[in-house]
Amino acid sequence: MKHMSLLCDLSELSWIFSDSTDLDSFLDSVVAMVANHMHAQVCSIYLYDDSDQMLTMRATKGLDAVAVGSVRMHLGEGLVGLALKELRPICEKAASQHPCYKAFEGIHEEKYDSFLAVPIMRGISRVGVLVVQREKRAYFREEDTLALKVVASQLANIIENARLFMDLSQPVKAKAPEKAARWQPPPLVKGKSAAEGVARGPAIVYRKRRKVSDLLTKRFSGTYGLGDFNAALAATEQQLEALQQQVEEKLSDVASLIFSAHLLMLRDKAFVGSIAQLIEKGENAPRAVLLVADRYMNVLGESENAYIREKVQDVEDLTLRVLGNLVREEKDFIFNCRGHVIIARDLFPSDILKFSGEEAAGVVLVGGGVTSHLSILSRSLHLPMVIANDTDLLKVPAETRVLLDADVGNIYLNPSADVVARFDEQELLRTQTQAQKDAVRPETFTQDGQRLQLLANINLLSDLAMARDLQAEGVGLYRSEFPFMIRNSFPTEEEQYVVYCKLVEGMPGKSVTFRTLDVGGDKVLPYLGDVQEQNPFLGLRSIRFSLRNREVFRQQLRAILRASADTSLRLMFPMVSSIEEFIKARVEVLACIDELKEQNVACNQSPQIGMMVEIPSVVEIIDELAELADFFSLGTNDFIQYMLAVDRTNETVAPLYIPHHPAVLRSLNRVVQAALRKGKEVSVCGDMAHAPKYIPFLIGIGVRSLSVDPLFLYKVQQAVMATDSVQAADFAQKLLGKCTVAGISGLLDAQPISP
Ligand code: PEP
Ligand code: MG
Repeated sequence: MKHMSLLCDLSELSWIFSDSTDLDSFLDSVVAMVANHMHAQVCSIYLYDDSDQMLTMRATKGLDAVAVGSVRMHLGEGLVGLALKELRPICEKAASQHPCYKAFEGIHEEKYDSFLAVPIMRGISRVGVLVVQREKRAYFREEDTLALKVVASQLANIIENARLFMDLSQPVKAKAPEKAARWQPPPLVKGKSAAEGVARGPAIVYRKRRKVSDLLTKRFSGTYGLGDFNAALAATEQQLEALQQQVEEKLSDVASLIFSAHLLMLRDKAFVGSIAQLIEKGENAPRAVLLVADRYMNVLGESENAYIREKVQDVEDLTLRVLGNLVREEKDFIFNCRGHVIIARDLFPSDILKFSGEEAAGVVLVGGGVTSHLSILSRSLHLPMVIANDTDLLKVPAETRVLLDADVGNIYLNPSADVVARFDEQELLRTQTQAQKDAVRPETFTQDGQRLQLLANINLLSDLAMARDLQAEGVGLYRSEFPFMIRNSFPTEEEQYVVYCKLVEGMPGKSVTFRTLDVGGDKVLPYLGDVQEQNPFLGLRSIRFSLRNREVFRQQLRAILRASADTSLRLMFPMVSSIEEFIKARVEVLACIDELKEQNVACNQSPQIGMMVEIPSVVEIIDELAELADFFSLGTNDFIQYMLAVDRTNETVAPLYIPHHPAVLRSLNRVVQAALRKGKEVSVCGDMAHAPKYIPFLIGIGVRSLSVDPLFLYKVQQAVMATDSVQAADFAQKLLGKCTVAGISGLLDAQPISP
């Protein structure tokens, strides 16, 4: 293959990158390398700035150096602009004759007839254009285009990293006069609250990058031997065990395996032995660690299996930790987030657990791809979190002071004394609110004496304490997927049994509603392997997954039935979309009871079996379902998402996610009326249940049971106590009479201010 050597050299890009002090010197090396391999007389890189939609030449080999920084064009302008606008390679035999050709004075480009440009893209964002030119006409062929495309795709990642990591504030080189000014953090960035609370602390940006491969080229100043390595191993083991213990104390249900992968590697004879061997042969210990780790990471990274590929991250984390303990003068190997506000993108639930274990102050999650369960998890861990769409946040310099108001979603960078004083005052109020825990009442009544049941949504066992403190009358929704999501593999029936027993024991004498596994969509199980679905929100999720994976379903049902042997049990299925699905799921429960009875295993033999109402299809068959199901629980989060076709995790369409859309309100009413007619219990467990604005409506249509995150129990009780059920019924009818969002908003906003 003609370009084999070029493709091989691509692996050098990251080396070139780590040797370069700034983006320009990196790009200079790249154009030289590409020109050389492709026998091009000219190779240039143009970078695109989305804010002004301009392309600027940032490096060239072969054209006059004055072109760098001064040759600029709009998107669509010239052949280069055209390649980026239309996102396609442009290969011309005689470029200057093309109608779109644009000549720039003084750079003497006209003589290069053969022209090949490929866009540099990262995902769907435009990064720039890579161009090669040669005098000889019709020189470039199809295979050149392919080779250049491969280079461009590699470059995209590195350029983005370079933009993030390299210090773009360095003195501007003469040849690039209009280089961007140093980015200054704005005082306030608005985001969306994902887990309430206020956090203060220095900023730290969390990046999942292959630091190990970068460090391979580093020259360590000290010399370290086997003794140092063994001491570093011992220190690392101690740290990991301490971390593991901290997390276990907080999260007994999910903690078991969080740091286990690290500990296993640390005790792995092959891993540790290979490093020791290299040291014995005379390699400096830090380099020996890096060489072996890099080999492991490469092997794991090439695996077909996504779960194994993910282990690369574990090896990397561990390696950096060991290095941190080995090379004592280097402080920045370990990501130390204690007391910091972490700014990150692309997190796993296990990252949130690690952050919480290491006592981070709060998290700013940048960009899309947010799973709702990351925020639910953060809430359970009392780790304030804000989701913001602004990728500039990843440029916030380390140690910038951050005040995170996750109650409303505000991120203050270098907050002024005024802002700080305001929050000091609020914090004082918050501690007073804490005292209101004593004020919460064991039973909740509306202003006119209607009894309303207030239950807690429980995700992790650690949520139980607050639920009890705030007098929850039981668990209205146990999201059983949490212990599944945090682990490295499916928990066994026994493991589940232990967790479920703790849940039941944690709410003595009170009712607990178990929801069976609700995975899929944004609730990802990392160990499920490469389940590639075009549209996972409409894919094999929730009850569909359980019915397709009967053994997983049965193990869970058996564990739940056994854990509730001596208590009353309410069991419900998520995302039921048809009568058949409900019946099939119920048949499995009954079969498990028979099986357990046959095996003489103590279990609950008469559970109440209900369902979540969260797929709009069930509204039309709700009367029949109300006959079959023992109870309904309204999952408004998904119900709204599916009814309005608005992804609940997508910031871009967040304004379209409207709980009070007339179609939503009328459907909720139909479901509640159907349940009431059949004398079946109906509760609301989605986020609408904790919004004071919607509580009068819910009471007004006849809801008498709400299940909310424990955090909101007091606030919801106050809102219920302030509501008169007769007036609420009247108000609900008025809302149901409106057919536009605006009409409903007007009425909702005119309500007396709720607490
Ligand atoms: C819901 O969809 O409203 C719900 C409570 O379920 P989850 O948020 O776990 O999807
Ligand atoms: Mg749901």
